[in-house]
Amino acid sequence: MKTRLLTEQDIEEAAAILHRGGLLGIPTETVYGLGADGLNAEAVRRIFLAKGRPQDNPLILHIPEAGWLERYCRNIPAAAYTLAKRFWPGPLTMILRRRENVPNAVTCGMSTVGVRCPDHPVTLEILRAASSPVAAPSGNRSGRPSPTCAAHMLEDMDGRIDAIVDGGPCDVGVESTIIDLTAPVPRLLRPGGLPLEALREALGEVAVDKAVLAPLAAGEKPRAPGMKYRHYAPRAPVTVVTGESRRTARYIRQRLGEYTGVICFDEYRGEFPGCVVESIGSFRDKAEQARRVFDALRVFDETGVEAIFAQCPGNTGLGLAVANRLKKAAGFQVVNVGGEEP
Ligand code: AMP
Ligand code: MG
Repeated sequence: MKTRLLTEQDIEEAAAILHRGGLLGIPTETVYGLGADGLNAEAVRRIFLAKGRPQDNPLILHIPEAGWLERYCRNIPAAAYTLAKRFWPGPLTMILRRRENVPNAVTCGMSTVGVRCPDHPVTLEILRAASSPVAAPSGNRSGRPSPTCAAHMLEDMDGRIDAIVDGGPCDVGVESTIIDLTAPVPRLLRPGGLPLEALREALGEVAVDKAVLAPLAAGEKPRAPGMKYRHYAPRAPVTVVTGESRRTARYIRQRLGEYTGVICFDEYRGEFPGCVVESIGSFRDKAEQARRVFDALRVFDETGVEAIFAQCPGNTGLGLAVANRLKKAAGFQVVNVGGEEP
């Protein structure tokens, strides 16, 4: 199969690919997605094959407006409409009770479905033109970092899908925040592009699933199936260093070997001579760190580095999502060197 690159003008062609059960790379504000017609079970199954995704890791249903929620969900709590009004279109996925018309292929047979309205003008137009929801996980091959531009998605998916719509680089750079609204207390399942603080401001109490901050213990049952899968991890072991940023830089400097990779804040770029250095933005700018963290993780496997150290932001704002992606890449190998986190 030849994978075509479509432009923002090719809305009708993109919708036609979805109608005939094809696979389409879609730009969103978070990361690129690998989409198929969310009501076509056959097409949805092909997503799993193209990605090499485990069969029990469900997909997110993308819709162009909250008005479509009733079509695919039932027993929708008022909180869902509160959140949709404040944060949609935007980087927030809600877990709700599903209706019977949502194929098992999307939800992996669960009674709940994840739904989101993405904030990208081109994808919103495609969703309306298709007049069908689009089921999509991130557009990487399973086990690779999420793609934040069309070129990165093409690297992973060339020859495996029909087309990718190039909608430019992603504004947010990490995946959506996932909140489970079927639990007695709303529960954060994955930190992402919408900060936890914003959810708490809108809803009051929001619980944080244990898997956000620590790895699951052996044999422990995850709240959501996807949580048990390892995210992308470079081949070389990664150590995440938390704490005040001058201290984390000093800690890393003292441990540099001959082939060391470093993920650091812009302010410290020059402090690791002879290393493969990937900076992710100022320690003050968590939005920039989110935009760049996956791109930084992408480079190390093409270099010969034998160990990777990463400076890490604190858990406030978008820092929770950035730190979570870094810690997952490190298999939660974390060293705290003290002091106030950036
Ligand atoms: P990805 O965008 O590649 O991270 O894939 C979609 C994410 O949404 C996965 O981590 C899934 O586990 C999660 N997800 C989708 N549907 C559900 C659901 N019904 N319950 C819990 N998590 C879900
Ligand atoms: Mg993914």
